[in-house]
Order: sequence, then C-alpha cells, then structure tokens
Amino acid sequence: MAFSFDTTYKRLDSNLYSKVTPKRVENPEILCRNDELCAELGVDPAELTADTLTGQNRSEKPIAQAYAGHQYGGFGLLGDGRAMLLGEHVYDGDRYDIQLKGSGRTPYARRGDGNATVSSMLREYLYSSAMYGLNIKTSRSLAVVETDETVTRRRTEPGAILVRVMNSHIRYGTFQYVASQRSEEIQPFTDYVIDRHYPRLNTTDRPYLAFFDAVMESSIEMAVDWLRVGFVHGVMNTDNMSIDGETFDYGPCAFMNYYDEGAVFSSIDRHGRYAFGNQRPILRWNLERFAEALQPLCARSALTYDELEDKLEEFPDRFDTRYYSMMRKKLGIDADGERELVDEFLEWLRESNADYTNTFLELEAPGTVDDPTFATAEFADLREKLAAVGLDEELMQEANPRYIPRNYLVEQALDAYLETDDLSTFNDLLAVLEDPYRSKDVDPRFQQPPPRRFDAEYTTY
Ligand code: AMP
Ligand code: MG
Ligand code: MG
Repeated sequence: MAFSFDTTYKRLDSNLYSKVTPKRVENPEILCRNDELCAELGVDPAELTADTLTGQNRSEKPIAQAYAGHQYGGFGLLGDGRAMLLGEHVYDGDRYDIQLKGSGRTPYARRGDGNATVSSMLREYLYSSAMYGLNIKTSRSLAVVETDETVTRRRTEPGAILVRVMNSHIRYGTFQYVASQRSEEIQPFTDYVIDRHYPRLNTTDRPYLAFFDAVMESSIEMAVDWLRVGFVHGVMNTDNMSIDGETFDYGPCAFMNYYDEGAVFSSIDRHGRYAFGNQRPILRWNLERFAEALQPLCARSALTYDELEDKLEEFPDRFDTRYYSMMRKKLGIDADGERELVDEFLEWLRESNADYTNTFLELEAPGTVDDPTFATAEFADLREKLAAVGLDEELMQEANPRYIPRNYLVEQALDAYLETDDLSTFNDLLAVLEDPYRSKDVDPRFQQPPPRRFDAEYTTY
C-alpha cells in the first residue's frame, strides 16, 4: 500500500488553506528513504516511487496551510510558502500529516522561489533522524528526492524535496492566523485541534483551559529535551512551535559542542534571541503570544484570559521542575532535590566551557574522553561530590547520548555529497546518529568536538 489519505484539514474553513499543485519534477532521484518509518506508517516502500514522493500526477490536490507568526519578535501573515500537505495518512488508528517541502511556490510564497537545496533537505533528514534517535518528539523525514533543477543560495546546487511526517503541522502561529483573520472560527478550530491531538481533554470540566495547559506542558517537555542534548533550535518563531510538542523546522539548528548558554549558530540571529540559554524565556514569550491568540475564544466560551495568565504564571516552576529532574538524570542522581549540586555543576560547565556531551561520558566513566578539561583537580573534586549522591550508570546512559550531530561533521558530510555525488559519508554519519546511545563499535572521531576556534562558525541556512 502507498498512502491512505483522509484529509480532515480540508473540511475546515476554506480560508485556512489553499489548494495547490506541486511543481513538475523531471528525473527525480530518491536519495534517502526511511524504511523503518515506512513500516510504522504501514506503507510499502516499493510503492513510494519518486513520482509518488514528489506528488506528481495526483487526482486529489494537496493544500498549503495558512498561518501567521512572530518572527524575531515581529508579527506577520505567513503560510506554507514552499511546503504542501499531500494529505493526512491514516494507519492503525493514527493520523499523520505527509508534507512536501521544496515542492514549488504556493499562494503564501511571497518573494520566495518555493524551492529547497539538496544540502538543506539532507540536513533536515539527518537532524530529524538524530532527534528521533535521541528519543525526542520530532517531525520525521520519510525521504529526500533530488530534482534536476538547480537552486542558488550561498552556492548553486541541485534542488530537492523532503517528505516530512508529523502528527500535524498545526502551530501556535496557526492559532494566531485564525485569531487575527478569522476570529469567528476560533472555537470550531480549537475543537478540531483538541479532537485531533488531545481528545482526552473533551471529558474534563474545562477543555479549553486544559488545552492551553497541555500545549504548555508538551512544549516544556520538548524544550527541556533540547537542553538535555544541547540542541539549539535556532528559529523559535511562533510559526515554528508545534501545538503537539513536536520539534520541527530544522533550519539553522545545531548542537552545542562547548557549553555556552549564549551559543548561536544562525547567521541571521545576530542578537542571540534564540541562543541555547534563551530557549526557556523565549518559550514563555511564545506561550504568551499563544495565549493572546486564544483571546477570541475567551469572548465565546467560559474561558477567561485571567485563567490563561494564571497558567502562564506557573511556567517558571513547571519548567524548572522538569529541568532539574532532567539534569539529575544526566548526573545519575536518583533522588529529589539536589538543586544546589546541579547549580554548582552548571557553574563549572559555564566556567570551563567543557564539551557538553562528553562531560557526561567522562563523569560516568573517567578516562573515556581525551580532553585536558577533564584532567583538572577541579573536575576530579566535582566528580567526587557527584559520586556521593549520584552517577548511577543506568540513569546516565538513558539521558546522555554518546553521539550528537557535531556540526562540522554534518557540514563535511554534506560537502562530500556535493563534491563527489556520493552519499557514503552522509550515510555513515546517519547510521551513527540513528543509534546515539550505543557504546560499541563506532569510530571515536564521531565523538570528537571541533577545535575550539572553529566552534563559533555559523551555519548559514
Ligand atoms: P521558516 O523560516 O523556514 O520557518 O520560513 C518562514 C516562512 O517563509 C514560511 O512561511 C515559509 O514557507 C517561507 N519560506 C521560506 N523559504 C521559502 C522559499 N524558498 N520559497 C517560498 N517560501 C519560503
Ligand atoms: Mg517554518
Ligand atoms: Mg525553514
């Protein structure tokens, strides 16, 4: 079977989307296909031809979704400019958005060309696969298909289409669109989203308040997971914040090597709005914008804006509770409390700028990592203190990956493909990242941070 579509989004108010036609693609070539994901979707990989994967010759038109959002703090009307929802695939009681990215212009494209470069789509495939391997809720990548046209960004390279799978692509920004353009639709739209993502809330006393609470909870869970592995999303605009706590839109994202709360890898983010350590306050800021988007719902239901504000007041405590619980696991502490010890450890990280990932490997098993930062008396003292209450191996191994997508290795793999037309470097890296907690049989170079002087180099996607 190929896809089995039942696209409920098309039954919503027609202002929320536009019917579109994917661009004509000649000589498409499938570069990557995720067969494990095919199996989860109940789809036979053999049926996923390049034509099917790029939405060619379809009788049913895909849609581009309208949304709005705050980009770097400023509000605007947006929408899928180069993405198209092929349909909602239903299998085994679950519903999945199957979306194409880089499939041509849509009515929301503004001045964009609707295209994507092959390196940026391979990059998204790699990062989303790595995040999935790290047990972090994320959009998935089903395939990358190279096309025969060229696309120019920082360099000229082949174009490609990514096939992306999510529970849905509904964002904070979709609510902002409805609130600002179609406020009379806010209640049916919210009901739709609750039915689709949080049906259990329908039986609670206050489903709308519970919905806000659940979105806040799933977003906190997502962001704390990012902090666990050193992930810098890079564009936490409200249009890139999923209503279901799925990490998505892998643009200028990167993993931090040397611990630095100011770490930024995007050339566009000049003021560090989306720096590693800013992700917590920015999430709160985004949730405030989401609460504002629910204002028209307050006018139409028992929900009050005061209640939403009270929920937002819970943010610091709820975030910190999850954050410290996560950090305790990373340090192998199987007890409550110990916040002071966690803070002391964080202070050491800030001062030493140690490699974040390798620090935990070294704490667990001294001598694992060859790095002078870990050969100091200070680190030995800290480790001794931690050992007195924690360093439980089992806890640590679950929380601490051995391999993250080191940005310089990702760049090397993408460059190697562009220069040689050979995906073997890329595929070797992908295989390591799909199984990041394993401990054996991997070339130790995948664990190596870049030389410090190169770490601040921007990724410019
Ligand atoms: P992003 O920064 O990837 O979240 O994208 C922000 C907005 O710009 C979204 O509405 C995208 O659909 C749109 N966009 C980004 N790149 C392109 C492109 N090449 N062509 C058309 N629209 C684009
Ligand atoms: Mg986006
Ligand atoms: Mg993007």
